Amino acid sequence: MTKIIPTLLSSAILLSGCGASAPPPAATTAPAAKIPLTGMPKIDAAPLLEHIKVLSSDAFEGRLPGTPGEERTVEYLTGEFQKLGLQPGNTDGTFIQKVPLVSITGTEARPLSVSGKARATFKWRDEVVAWTKHVADGASIENSDLVFVGYGVVAPEYSWDDFKGVDLKGKTMVVLVNDPQVLDAADPSKLDARTFNGAAMTYYGRWTYKFEEAARRGAAGALIIHETGPAGYPFAVVQGNLGEKFDLVTPDKNMGRANIEGWLSLDAAKRLLKMGGQDFDALKKLATTREFKPVPLGLKASLAVKNTMRTIESRNVLAKLEGSDPVLKDEYIVYTAHWDHFGTGEPDPKGDTNDRIYNGALDNASGVAAMLEMARAFTQVKPAPRRSILFAAVTAEEQGLLGSQYYAVTPVYPLAKTLANINIDGINQWGRTKDITVIGLGASDLDDYLRDAAAEQSRTLRPDPESEKGFYYRSDHFNFAKQGVPALYTDTGVEFVGKPTEFSKQKRDEYTERDYHKPSDQIKPDWDLAGAVEDAELMVAVGYRVANADRFPEWKPGNEFRAKREEMLKK
Ligand SMILES: [Zn+2]
Repeated sequence: MTKIIPTLLSSAILLSGCGASAPPPAATTAPAAKIPLTGMPKIDAAPLLEHIKVLSSDAFEGRLPGTPGEERTVEYLTGEFQKLGLQPGNTDGTFIQKVPLVSITGTEARPLSVSGKARATFKWRDEVVAWTKHVADGASIENSDLVFVGYGVVAPEYSWDDFKGVDLKGKTMVVLVNDPQVLDAADPSKLDARTFNGAAMTYYGRWTYKFEEAARRGAAGALIIHETGPAGYPFAVVQGNLGEKFDLVTPDKNMGRANIEGWLSLDAAKRLLKMGGQDFDALKKLATTREFKPVPLGLKASLAVKNTMRTIESRNVLAKLEGSDPVLKDEYIVYTAHWDHFGTGEPDPKGDTNDRIYNGALDNASGVAAMLEMARAFTQVKPAPRRSILFAAVTAEEQGLLGSQYYAVTPVYPLAKTLANINIDGINQWGRTKDITVIGLGASDLDDYLRDAAAEQSRTLRPDPESEKGFYYRSDHFNFAKQGVPALYTDTGVEFVGKPTEFSKQKRDEYTERDYHKPSDQIKPDWDLAGAVEDAELMVAVGYRVANADRFPEWKPGNEFRAKREEMLKK
């Protein structure tokens, strides 16, 4: 899982609407009778753990893209897919989709200085964190008008438009993080569930959306006001985003993006707004109404950053199980799990060893291992699935979901013929659960498939307990969703068999605090993969049933990705 996602797609989030999805081509075989879970191949914990051991071993050096760790990983995955008898997943006859990446290290060239009604400079890193996505030596804003744009959201399905036609070309928008926090008129102690999904974060709330909107408006700059609660993480995480960053190499070298993208600490933002004669709290309140209009601050901003760059060719590893139906085999279910992690770096200052290798056992050697064992199950299931299954071990997730983004924008098989994405990022290492968490529960028909399969294990679905943090937008499935493909992403359940209620939160907090994105993310002696095995069996059942189904799964009405899918299937 990534902490922060610098995606560079600028596709508009489209209106949700009605419309029929395209009928699938006529199959030439009869639909497979539904096989109960008990009739499906079993997943074993032992080979699953074995894959994790190999991938998270020190020999793999933390699996950073562009290092010898990548070579070893790609070699291992290709070998394992071949052993399973899977076909090369790319149409060029290889198991590889090349992913061109550019690494950019941005530093301050000139500090953020503001002039106009008042004059001040702001401290790099402490008060302002900024970069440019331009693949160039540097970029700047020069005397750019600062405009407060509220939440910076255009959402026709909620009759919401923060811009009201105000021209932002060449200007710098100052914008709030998260989506408009509209109170429920009947009960102002909560958020209105019908507007921006209540407390759950919609894509309009993600910081990536703000920068994409800035690009669409031709803004020269965009500065997000950081607040810990609404962002879902402290300013330190934003500061951690300085330094080397990877990005996809795009034809326009990202010149369509704003020159400068960045964040202001809350204190810096308050100071800045005050210089413009405005009060942060009053503006924020105003921004939660449909009447909000952009507020010019009467201030001009200048800031310059410089870049050092290098290019890397990384790889997604793709393997295919061809469908058994001569017509439907041209349609796909795509499983994804990211193989990359952080490589080597500084030892954890709070850790008790000098270990410099970020082994990423859970994140995400475990997900890749699970996908390999799921692939094995698919090679054994009888009858074979009618549609084809693609297993994609993707690169550079930790660098901003880049490998999956590359696949979703440059797909090997058309997305209009891709029924679903099922993503695995981390597995349950703490034993069996009575439930399974679905991130973004209720998004698509895939949840119904999962609910049915889970019931056969006497288990239930549970919504994401932290939906306000926007986890739906923080792993590889999101790139498929964003392009319109229904995507399923689950997480460990919370009700552990034979354990007290607080066990789940305890274990989860312990992992986040001690091991998440640290060298100590290693296999632990107390790991119990019995629950992971059951989860993996569910993921296989869902994919298999969708692969044999008579209709395409759809986004639920009202979902922000539904219109995009309908448009794609009409063509
Ligand atoms: Zn991660």
